[in-house]
Amino acid sequence: MACKNCLEKPVIKLQNNNVSLCKKCFIEYFEKKVKKTITDYKLIRKNENIVVACSGGKDSTVLLYLIKKITSNRRDIKITALAIDEGIHGYRNKSLEFLKDFCNKQEVELNIYSYKEEFTKSLDEILKTYKGIPCSICGVLRRYLLNKKSKELKATKLATGHNLDDEAQTITMNYFKNNVKMSARLGPIAGIIRDKGFIPRIKPLYFLTEKEVASYAFLKGFMDKFNECPNSPLSYRAQIRDTLNELENKYPGTKNGIISSFIEILPLLKEKYKNDHEVIKSCKICDEPSSQDICKSCYYIETVIKA
Ligand code: SF4
Ligand SMILES: [Zn+2]
Ligand SMILES: [Zn+2]
Repeated sequence: MACKNCLEKPVIKLQNNNVSLCKKCFIEYFEKKVKKTITDYKLIRKNENIVVACSGGKDSTVLLYLIKKITSNRRDIKITALAIDEGIHGYRNKSLEFLKDFCNKQEVELNIYSYKEEFTKSLDEILKTYKGIPCSICGVLRRYLLNKKSKELKATKLATGHNLDDEAQTITMNYFKNNVKMSARLGPIAGIIRDKGFIPRIKPLYFLTEKEVASYAFLKGFMDKFNECPNSPLSYRAQIRDTLNELENKYPGTKNGIISSFIEILPLLKEKYKNDHEVIKSCKICDEPSSQDICKSCYYIETVIKA
């Protein structure tokens, strides 16, 4: 089967609509879709200071490259990269080396903050005593630092590399855990309410699948190996991811169906929960926004890291 647009040799078959595209047409398709998401959902406005959450993985690398490219002639937009070094031996140190080199080439300022410096212990050290699922503590600490540090960098938006697969997994997890209220915070621009303690998060890769993002990263020559965190297979998300992948293989369009129907009901969810959010307080220990007196991050610091 030839490329649908130009009859050249195809390099990819798109998951949703059975269409094959050559390298040039796929790159055009991909970039157009990112631009459309940014425009349709007004992800980038005037005079923005956008901090891109980077890990050295494919999603955030593609995101950083495209945000920089798309805003290249906008003098009112500043782009900075922010990375968190959890301290996962043999994994994060390698991806951060790649990221430093990539940011250098892209001429983007990179700020790296580590668990070791911020919380006194690396994730590897924390996991010597913490016997729960690694992602549950790591995810809390990571989100905490991303928000806190992007505020310190005076960000107006925090851009993350979440793709269609990530979002479909989160929506499914929230359903399975009877946590639909949490889904009201999802979407290409996250949150229900604006609070000055939280930097709004934007997801320009929202409508692109994991396979498409990986293909784009590969075809642009950014990377040809995609490493996974060694702790990831232990997570609930990994189980949901495998289940959705199985369903997608058997019934193509499954993930796209989850996202399309979710986007349709998202305004209703936001409306339903707009007055129902927890009162946002300031954590008594760190002063960061929290629904409880003590934020989750400080809870883990006190009960796990210092214990
Ligand atoms: S997969 Fe889990 S443990 Fe690994 S970096 Fe992500 S949240 Fe942390
Ligand atoms: Zn083509
Ligand atoms: Zn706190």
